[in-house]
Amino acid sequence: MTVGRYAPSPSGRMHLGNLCCCLLAWLSAKSRGGRVVLRIEDLDAARCPRAFADLLEADLAWLGLSADEGGSRGGPHAPYYQSECAALYRQAFDRLAGQGLLYPCFCTRSQLHAASAPHRSDGQVIYPGTCRGLTPAQAAEKARVRPPAWRVRVPDEEIGFVDGHLGPYRENLAADCGDFFVRRADGVFAYQLAVVVDDARMGVTEVVRGADLLSSTPRQLWLYRVLELEPPAFCHLPLLLAPDGRRLSKRDGDVSLEHLQARYTPEQIIGRLAYVCGLQKAPDPRTPAELADGFRWDKVPRQDIRLPEGLF
Ligand code: GLU
Repeated sequence: MTVGRYAPSPSGRMHLGNLCCCLLAWLSAKSRGGRVVLRIEDLDAARCPRAFADLLEADLAWLGLSADEGGSRGGPHAPYYQSECAALYRQAFDRLAGQGLLYPCFCTRSQLHAASAPHRSDGQVIYPGTCRGLTPAQAAEKARVRPPAWRVRVPDEEIGFVDGHLGPYRENLAADCGDFFVRRADGVFAYQLAVVVDDARMGVTEVVRGADLLSSTPRQLWLYRVLELEPPAFCHLPLLLAPDGRRLSKRDGDVSLEHLQARYTPEQIIGRLAYVCGLQKAPDPRTPAELADGFRWDKVPRQDIRLPEGLF
């Protein structure tokens, strides 16, 4: 059975971009008789207070997009809040350490950015490997001054996959990405590790998320491999852009659920989103259930979607 998921980081009220992702994850799973899990990605617990997660669940319920499992509803794969999963991430971290794949990194943010290190296309620094060769004695010496973050040693290898919506994608982990963080210096485990551990243990078979995470997928697929876990299928969505072409963000108040809820019915919001996602020819009101029957990924555009002026 298809098991889809929503994995929001509720650091504010949902906006149309998050909602679009939930709608397509829901439709993709439900159109094949599957179910959906809600996992709250509140690793950064200070930025994602429980009140935002609760509000997000209420918004999903209002829209007719409640998950079948997870969030405050709980279920067989609890915990569903990443802030409660440190012990599980620790096990995976220890497994990577046992394979000799981890090393402590003492570089400060400013050192990383000052180094003339190459950058990824998404603007992140490709780690030049400064701390990769530290001896245990050197690392112990440095650890007396500041606690390290932990990086994983990536192989000089291309990792490719076929995205269910965007097609083939590949990256050489060493050249295009570099050794990446699995744990921050403050002890918080990193998204890349947490997402793999959680999707695997929750039995997720299909990940639907924004195209901004496409380039994270080779890293995650490699973690699935070294942790001997079964990877899901991936479908990445084009990003929703404001009518002027900017990326939507939580700062765009007019596309937040708070604003939308005051102006539209749930069916009007879902119907308009379905229209911009190519799922219907006109922005007529619809429920998610009405859209599930005719849902097909090939109707959804592959390029970023600019919201038409005045639609919302
Ligand atoms: N928590 C991430 C976000 O809200 C999504 C992670 C994922 O879907 O893998 O951007």
